[in-house]
Amino acid sequence: PHTSPHIAGAGRLAGARLMSPMHEGIGMTSQRTRERLIRRLGQEGIRNRRVLESMRNTPRHLFVDEALASRAYEDTALPIGQGQTISQPYIVARMTEALLAAGPLENVLEVGTGSGYQTAVLAPLVRRVYTTERIKVLLDQARRRLQALKIRNVITKHADGTIGLPEYAPFDGILVAAAPEGIPLALVEQLRPGGRMVLPIGDRDEQALVRVVRTNEGYVHEMLERVSFVPLLGGVC
Ligand code: SAH
Repeated sequence: PHTSPHIAGAGRLAGARLMSPMHEGIGMTSQRTRERLIRRLGQEGIRNRRVLESMRNTPRHLFVDEALASRAYEDTALPIGQGQTISQPYIVARMTEALLAAGPLENVLEVGTGSGYQTAVLAPLVRRVYTTERIKVLLDQARRRLQALKIRNVITKHADGTIGLPEYAPFDGILVAAAPEGIPLALVEQLRPGGRMVLPIGDRDEQALVRVVRTNEGYVHEMLERVSFVPLLGGVC
């Protein structure tokens, strides 16, 4: 067989393309690479088995641009366009764990869908996720990904999440993926008594991850650790 080098080269390329990140089992996006990330999260102190299991089952490489897919299982935030980032896996795990710590949750509000990765990790762990994103192009992409993964208990809204989703309140849990400078009271008011919210608070230079628990009298809050998120902004685009 005399295949010209040019054709052979094209064939290899076509093969590589067929095994693009949609497919399991190749190099940096393989199940083995994902396992390594899960082990690392365990070493970093993530204890909740259901959270780790959900992250093991969630293909993060499908939530970033194909050009970044090979870095998807590094424990780092990555750009998703529009000046936004997909959260670092450790932070996704930590926030989900903090949200679920007191037991199972029914309805959860997420503010800042971004890539949809946190949404996909959370969805199997609760009854329903309502997720809001203020940037339409990001939300549309996230919707397509969630659909492709057949995740059906998520309701997506193109909306300014600062004011929550009063029509679906109260929530058992709220998870905010962008940082306001103080605790947004509209969101606290949409928690059911005993409900909890996990969010970053602070300015661009210094932020803390905070857990807020709604009580009958008001709320109590607790600082978890230092973090770095994009700011929570008003309005939609
Ligand atoms: N957990 C997401 C993180 C996305 S970054 C992921 O893993 O991909 C935070 C997102 O919050 C950004 O997409 C940003 O557009 C969005 N955001 C910021 N302010 C918002 C607001 N007021 N309402 C809704 N979304 C907001």
